[in-house]
Amino acid sequence: MIKYVDNFTKQKLDSIRKDLNKKYRYNLFEHVMELLRISKNTYGILLTRGKGDIINLNRMEDERLTKLGKEKTGIFLPPNNLDAYIEIDINLKYVDFQTQQLSVNIINIIFHELFEAYMMLDAEMQYQEAHDYVGIQELALMNQISHLSEYIAFGKVTRDKRYS
Ligand SMILES: [Zn+2]
Repeated sequence: MIKYVDNFTKQKLDSIRKDLNKKYRYNLFEHVMELLRISKNTYGILLTRGKGDIINLNRMEDERLTKLGKEKTGIFLPPNNLDAYIEIDINLKYVDFQTQQLSVNIINIIFHELFEAYMMLDAEMQYQEAHDYVGIQELALMNQISHLSEYIAFGKVTRDKRYS
């Protein structure tokens, strides 16, 4: 299930979906929202304006920590009542990591983080596998929604330094 942390997040996601559905009724973004909605796990989502971060946490084992002999604790875990927690600052300007120039649509970033969270928690993938898989799915989303004309980043984004 989805737990919207505040009203703004719900309204913003509803408006993004409405807009995308106008262009392509059964698009992948909608598919991901449906996967989260019917999951037995609870996904907390918060879209912020100006807080300045992307956070993607879940309660699953993370092999990157295990390999270092570390337990997943504290700041690496979602809040107690959630199985996953995704926070995205939608005011940040992102560019693709490779060129550091080409704009990346915030819709792509939201799609990436939500789908990645699902693949790590419900599909039990480790981070890198989930990240790479969702990068390919971004391409499919962009193919469906032709007005998402900005660059496909395959999850590799960085802050646009021209705006900071
Ligand atoms: Zn990723």
